[in-house]
Amino acid sequence: MRAFGPATGRRLACFVRPHSVVPGEIALRIWRVAVKSGSCLCGAVKFTVSCELKPPDACHCVQCRKFSGHYSVGTDVPRNAVEIFGAEHVTWYHSSMKVRRGFCSVCGCSMFFDPPAKDWIGISMGAFDGCTETHVELHIFVAEKGDYYQICDGLPQYQRIP
Ligand SMILES: [Zn+2]
Ligand SMILES: [Zn+2]
Repeated sequence: MRAFGPATGRRLACFVRPHSVVPGEIALRIWRVAVKSGSCLCGAVKFTVSCELKPPDACHCVQCRKFSGHYSVGTDVPRNAVEIFGAEHVTWYHSSMKVRRGFCSVCGCSMFFDPPAKDWIGISMGAFDGCTETHVELHIFVAEKGDYYQICDGLPQYQRIP
């Protein structure tokens, strides 16, 4: 994961440089397919993910419920595929010894689930802009879900983790 300064979008433009690898139109098309982008509610924080998105989990644990305001749906991506712009606006909260969660210090948008010892980082699906081209795969920590909603999508449910 690389973190950059103000989310001006200037750095984003630097991504469109695969011309040195594959010429012109084809290269740009490849870039569009591979790179997903997202942002917080106010736009102070933006990010890109330079890989396809794995099917996300829906986590109903108490920590995810409080962090997200309902329950969390996130996808895990390789750490080196993530770039964060406006990183100085991300506040990291250590919700446990092994995990820190990142949110925008301006608008409060919850975006990142970061276990520093791992080679991946979780990103909230709701923070992605545009098509994500993936779908929720399963529900975890259902034992801790709130009593005010039902899970009715027919996807596998686990009391904790599979
Ligand atoms: Zn924000
Ligand atoms: Zn959780």
